[in-house]
Amino acid sequence: MAGIQGKSVLVLGGSRGIGAAIVRRFAAEGAAVTFTYAGAQEAAGRLAAETGATAVLTDSADRDALIARVRDSGPLDVLVVNAGVGAFGDPLEQDPDMVDRLIRINVAAPWHAAVEAARRMPEGGRIIVIGSVNGDRIPFPGLSAYAMSKSALQGLARGLARDFGPRGITVNVVQPGPIDTDLNPADGPMKDIQHAVMALKRHGRPEDVAGLVAWLAGPEAGFVTGAMHTIDGGFGA
Ligand code: NDP
Repeated sequence: MAGIQGKSVLVLGGSRGIGAAIVRRFAAEGAAVTFTYAGAQEAAGRLAAETGATAVLTDSADRDALIARVRDSGPLDVLVVNAGVGAFGDPLEQDPDMVDRLIRINVAAPWHAAVEAARRMPEGGRIIVIGSVNGDRIPFPGLSAYAMSKSALQGLARGLARDFGPRGITVNVVQPGPIDTDLNPADGPMKDIQHAVMALKRHGRPEDVAGLVAWLAGPEAGFVTGAMHTIDGGFGA
């Protein structure tokens, strides 16, 4: 890819938090950006007005709607799968339906979206999935289902990198540590316990993650594939 300007980018889950920062970053670099949302209609509308990106309602838990959205948005130069949910707590107490929904959004949706995008993705295309440092390290109880879903993305990236590599398409996972969003506020109840295991005793910013995603989508990262890219303030160090 010559650069991000003019490229066709789809961000799944772009209305808030890390996804919104990714939308802003790609739009600022001149890409043609479409992003999905499921619930935050007002935030999505504001972000679209601010950036010129196109907001579309698509629930990543709805497999057929998701596949249709990716198909209708293509051919894509860059797919970013950011949409993700948490399901935290004692596994013995967790609602099995909630865990199944997490698996649909955090694991099945990235798979189906990546495969559908690759059908028409040109050479030089980039598939970037937002995982978590919890895919590598789980220092507290109550994270099992979430961590399982993020570890699964590692196999997805390694395998699809092999499948699509001959066509010049790269597949990578970005693994944030604590980032200040609605999901994990910097002043939230988990702040101290998270900072205790970090080298840098603070949350990161959504823009930090967006910068790494933009690099992976850009011309300098053409030889980077099948890899996990951790950005966690030393949470996993
Ligand atoms: P937020 O909860 O702040 O935002 C989540 C975004 O994903 C929203 O735009 C939301 O849209 C969208 N989304 C959620 N579910 C769906 C769905 N079913 N269909 C479509 N869109 C959906 O989370 P973060 O920004 O913090 O997290 C983004 C990603 O980063 C997730 O994959 C998360 O697991 C990962 N991550 C976050 C960390 C953190 O500390 N914040 C650390 C490590 C990983 P809407 O509101 O419209 O539904």
